[in-house]
Amino acid sequence: MTEPTSPERFNELDLQPEVLQALNDMGFETMTDVQAQAIPHLLTSVDFLGQAPTGTGKTAAFSIPLVNRIEPGTGHVQALIVGPTRELVQQIALEINQIGKVKGVTAAPVFGGERMYGQKQRLREEPADIIVGTPGRLIDHLQGLSIDLSRCRIVVLDECDEMLDMGFIDDIELILSYLPQGRQTWLFSATMSQESLKVADRHLYYPEEVRIQPQRHSAEVIDQYYYIADEEDKLQILKNLIKTDPDLYGIVFCQTKKGVVELTRKLRGRYPVECIHGAMEQSTRELMMERFRNREYKLLVATDVLARGIDIDCLTHIINYEPPRDPEAYIHRIGRTARAGETGVAFTFFEPYQEWDYKQLVKRIGMEMDLHPDSTGAFEAQPRRRSGGRGGSRSGGRGSGGYSGNSQGS
Ligand code: ADP
Ligand code: MG
Repeated sequence: MTEPTSPERFNELDLQPEVLQALNDMGFETMTDVQAQAIPHLLTSVDFLGQAPTGTGKTAAFSIPLVNRIEPGTGHVQALIVGPTRELVQQIALEINQIGKVKGVTAAPVFGGERMYGQKQRLREEPADIIVGTPGRLIDHLQGLSIDLSRCRIVVLDECDEMLDMGFIDDIELILSYLPQGRQTWLFSATMSQESLKVADRHLYYPEEVRIQPQRHSAEVIDQYYYIADEEDKLQILKNLIKTDPDLYGIVFCQTKKGVVELTRKLRGRYPVECIHGAMEQSTRELMMERFRNREYKLLVATDVLARGIDIDCLTHIINYEPPRDPEAYIHRIGRTARAGETGVAFTFFEPYQEWDYKQLVKRIGMEMDLHPDSTGAFEAQPRRRSGGRGGSRSGGRGSGGYSGNSQGS
């Protein structure tokens, strides 16, 4: 028997004309793999488990069928999406509002860092068909009765592994307890950990499953290099990179707020650079993102708050000025470049004492990175505490526990 050929373009799907029109306006014609495989299922009543790498269009994979299935303007929340961070939640809401534009389906984002009062008022005055929220703030609204899920038919857990990594398991369980029996549950994640599978076991009923394997972790489209250099040399290498590439438009990742602030200070004045970290006011963060998207500055220095699911078009560079604490975060950081088929380059800076971190990373991504010829140092044979150097204002060798910057909001 021959396999039925799966549709490749949105207009081959059984979507409402209003939805197709909006997709057309957005420039969406060809489906990504996860979209082609997931959407036909999600247009029917099913529970669903979807895994596909970062940058493969999971948001639209659930948003398109959601919009298609929702009746606009009933005044009831018909679908709920739970996501890990404010930025991601805002982005999902934005994408749904675009897809829903012609049909009149709306999504409202709710997240911490903004006053409850204002959010409650907005939810009351402009009732949305779909709520998109971070776990903590959703619970505040549910307990405060400012969101009613009694008519919610579909719940999406987006970037589930991320949420569980961030310790949101109890929050997710609590949120799910507010949803009516018989609702559909869709779980999406870039990776699928045992913990996510346990959530699926508990809450998904004979789910349809789609798994898209990473293409060797985007290795084909992202050139990955590493540098070994002392702290002082790292700054010089970064400056050279910026100088030699006038088209550079990228994100520089540091581990901590302090690292972000210090590096930004050292670069500011000479380069069009700004920063974002978790301790900034929400409104300032939004403004910074907006200006970066508009390319009012070319280099964004950030902590990992930004790495989770944020999408900015056409980044040329991801620079890990400090390697991520956790190899998983690396995948997310470099996933910011080479989105949707573009190419990109990722540079990761290691200090000579960080050989262990390098090895962990290489093991995780399952491939060697190339040592950049402009490296100025070499790994020390033995991992040991860094001695000498200037100032010592930052914590030294690995294992010193000096990374304090868990700046995640909810
Ligand atoms: P993921 O959640 O899998 O990491 P996103 O949903 O953030 O990925 O999508 C990545 C980017 O690809 C976004 O900019 C999105 O607008 C774009 N995109 C998604 N699907 C399509 C499509 N079918 N055609 C064109 N662009 C798309
Ligand atoms: Mg996503």
